[in-house]
Amino acid sequence: MSSDNTTDGGSTDALTKTREARMGEGLDDRFNSKLREAFGASPFILTKFDKFMNWVRGSSMFMLQFGIACCSIEMIHTYAIKHDLDRFGAGIPRASPRQADVIIVPGTIVSKFAPRMKRVYDQMPEPKFVVGMGSCTISGGPFQEGYNVVKGAEEVIPVDIHVPGCPPRPEALIYGVAKLQERVANGESTPVTVKPYELEQFGDMDDDEVIDELADQIDEDTLAMRYNWADSP
Ligand code: SF4
Repeated sequence: MSSDNTTDGGSTDALTKTREARMGEGLDDRFNSKLREAFGASPFILTKFDKFMNWVRGSSMFMLQFGIACCSIEMIHTYAIKHDLDRFGAGIPRASPRQADVIIVPGTIVSKFAPRMKRVYDQMPEPKFVVGMGSCTISGGPFQEGYNVVKGAEEVIPVDIHVPGCPPRPEALIYGVAKLQERVANGESTPVTVKPYELEQFGDMDDDEVIDELADQIDEDTLAMRYNWADSP
C-alpha cells in the first residue's frame, strides 16, 4: 500500500487520488502492492505454467467436511477461532467431495466404513490430496488388534501426509497441512510423516535419552506431564 495511507492526511490524499483515477486522471493507488513494487511497472511475470498452477493449488486448498472418530474433535478445533486454519488458505470445509481437493482422515477406519471412504475419495476431482490424522490412520492406533479395524488409511486410499499423535494437537495438524501445501507448491508427491512438533525440542537424541527426558517432565504426584504448552511454537 502507499505510504500515503499511514496518516490521516495521507488517507485523504489517497482518497483524492482514487477519485481522480476514477475520473480518468492518474493511477489508482489502491492497486499498489508489495508484489507490484517488486516487479515494477511490467505487466508480465514469466514462470512455468505448472509451477504457477502448483503454487495456486498449494495456496488455496478446499478441505472436505469429513469426520470419523475422536481425532475429528481436534480437527474441528483446528478449523475454529483459536487456531483458524483458514489463515493458511485451507480452512473452509466443503460439504461435497466434488468441491474438495483435500481430505483429512481424522480417526479409526473400520472395515465396514472403508469402502464408503474410498467412494468419497473417488468422488473428489483430480488433483486430490490426503492428510492422515492420528495413529489410527497410520496403523490402526490403539485399536490395531481389533478384528474390524483397518491397519491404516494407506490400505484404502493413498496418503500424502501422515500426522502422528493420539490425537495430534491442532498445531500438529496445521503443520501437516502446511507441509502438504509446501509439497504441492513444489510439485512433490512422495508421502511424508510429520514429526510431532513437541519432539523437536529433543533434536537428534537417541530413544533412551528421549524417554529419560520425558520421564523427567512427569509430575510424580499427579502423573501428569509438566510440558508447558505455552512454549509451543
Ligand atoms: S488416533 Fe487416538 S484420538 Fe485419533 S481417532 Fe485414533 S484413538 Fe482417537
